[in-house]
Amino acid sequence: MTVKQFSRFVNLLILNGLMLFWQAPALAQGDDVSALCRQIANKLASVDLRDCLDVNLINTGAYSVENKPLVVKEYPPLPGRTPMGRVLLLGGIHGDEYSSISVVFKWLRILEEHHSGMFHWRVAPLVNPDGLLRGKSQRMNANGVDLNRNFPTPNWHVEAVNYWVNQTYRSPRRYPGPAPLSEPESLWLFKEIESFKPDVIVSVHAPHGVVDFDGPHEAPKRLGQLHLKLLGTYPGSLGNYAGLLKGMPVLTIELDRAGIMPTRYEIRDIWGDMIRWLRKNLNKNTVYSPQADQLPEAS
Ligand SMILES: [Zn+2]
Repeated sequence: MTVKQFSRFVNLLILNGLMLFWQAPALAQGDDVSALCRQIANKLASVDLRDCLDVNLINTGAYSVENKPLVVKEYPPLPGRTPMGRVLLLGGIHGDEYSSISVVFKWLRILEEHHSGMFHWRVAPLVNPDGLLRGKSQRMNANGVDLNRNFPTPNWHVEAVNYWVNQTYRSPRRYPGPAPLSEPESLWLFKEIESFKPDVIVSVHAPHGVVDFDGPHEAPKRLGQLHLKLLGTYPGSLGNYAGLLKGMPVLTIELDRAGIMPTRYEIRDIWGDMIRWLRKNLNKNTVYSPQADQLPEAS
């Protein structure tokens, strides 16, 4: 190799290095999701690293307070079949409700194998990654805010704050935050709802062991062994915001226990009953309108 050839070779190496450098942001996005999967699998015995990686969760470009990616998986309409509706499925809005995250990962496995195009799904298995992925998991996000009290319901500044002070005696676990949508995670979920326009939101929680429901449609009487029990609406909650204000049904599945998984039969039965309820109640022609008359009275 002549000196000139060698010099060309070195230049080529530098150019390649620069190109790799430019590609780094695109690569980093996948790395973010892989790292998140590793952290989830380390934390939750019932979520296998392979299962999380195989789902190919998408980094939406939004991040939690502590810079964890907020991820979704979408199961879009399939050719030749008009979906009966759009379903937004959420796990882990409260970071210490482990089973709510693990169960959504189990249902993701079902969708990975059996998505038939019956519904258009968007699934966010872990809305509050910082709450889960800390030494001692917590309900709130990294700023100590209960994300499920941070949604922009009417008169939030009076209602949510009054409720927190007078009904919860300033419980740190129920702190609604300094302002509605003050948190990156709730703002992200708000935007997801705006862009995806779900016909139904299914949000998984624990450990009340019931089915709760806000908004139009007839609530399911039972999903698996979980029976309908309306827990009431709270200022700033997702059910209050989406269910009552926006007129989108919010189905809240409260699993029995936060730290112990339901049996696999129960996980399957809840899923099956939920699909039956969705089939019965969703219709692509359904139009939802805000139901301002259903807003809760000021307290
Ligand atoms: Zn919860």
